Amino acid sequence: MNTADGTTGFSTEDLQSLQTTVERFAKRAIAPHVPEWEEAGQFDRSLYTQAAELGLLGLGYPEHLGGTPAPWRARNMLSQTLARYGGSGGVMASLFSLNIGLPPVMAHGSAELQAEVVPPVLRGERIAALAITESGGGSDVAGLRTTARADGADYVIDGEKVFIITSGLRADWITLAVRTDAASKGASGISMVVVPGDTPGITRTRLHKMGWHSSDTAQLRFDGVRVPQRYRLG
Ligand SMILES: Cc1cc2nc3c(=O)[nH]c(=O)nc-3n(C[C@H](O)[C@H](O)[C@H](O)COP(=O)(O)OP(=O)(O)OC[C@H]3O[C@@H](n4cnc5c(N)ncnc54)[C@H](O)[C@@H]3O)c2cc1C
Repeated sequence: MNTADGTTGFSTEDLQSLQTTVERFAKRAIAPHVPEWEEAGQFDRSLYTQAAELGLLGLGYPEHLGGTPAPWRARNMLSQTLARYGGSGGVMASLFSLNIGLPPVMAHGSAELQAEVVPPVLRGERIAALAITESGGGSDVAGLRTTARADGADYVIDGEKVFIITSGLRADWITLAVRTDAASKGASGISMVVVPGDTPGITRTRLHKMGWHSSDTAQLRFDGVRVPQRYRLG
């Protein structure tokens, strides 16, 4: 069967089987633990590998990167079933932050960069996050002030991302919106750069929220963070 987004072979039976898998996973691996995770301010990191082993993290990603091509209705069904039986929007947000961190890499990353970044995330071994919002106003993306200055073969990044970066405390890959042309105004001169989470110069501060405590969220500071220019997307 061909679907609107070009994926093949996802039958009604496949959807039902996926729904059963997700329901069992949510009832067994998530719902009973939510109170303790809310208290701890994060969920067990092993949840990523458990979700990966069931193919949930890779749903909708290409096979050559370790994913399972799937139509949007399968991904919607995953979200609805987790919401119905998992009992925590916060766990869902952090567990699936790859689905905001990776799309820019899939859309604009080179084949080499995709091969480096994506498979370990789909295996649940690495965590991906997206960092766009700044204190000046998340809606006003064109006003962002974090800069990436070209220096030899690298970019040197300075700035701050706040309110709020989902999976920000634990992310191994941060897909970061920066201004590569410091003199530019508005949307022109903005680029996305993938930053390894262990790069020197990154400071992470836990953000205390009113709810969704089990979703790890952080403010991120970048002070002279140096990444190779090949990590720029597009
Ligand atoms: C749970 C949660 C998780 C998040 N995770 C991430 C993440 O992983 N990565 C990330 O980068 N960001 C994340 N964010 C930030 C989110 O993207 C921003 O909160 C959002 O873009 C809104 O920005 P803001 O909070 O700065 O509000 P503002 O932009 O300051 O807006 C405040 C209010 O003013 C209104 N407004 C703004 N501009 C205008 C205008 N021109 N005209 C009329 N009304 C206007 C808005 O609609 C809103 O009601 C997260 C936020 C939440 C709540």
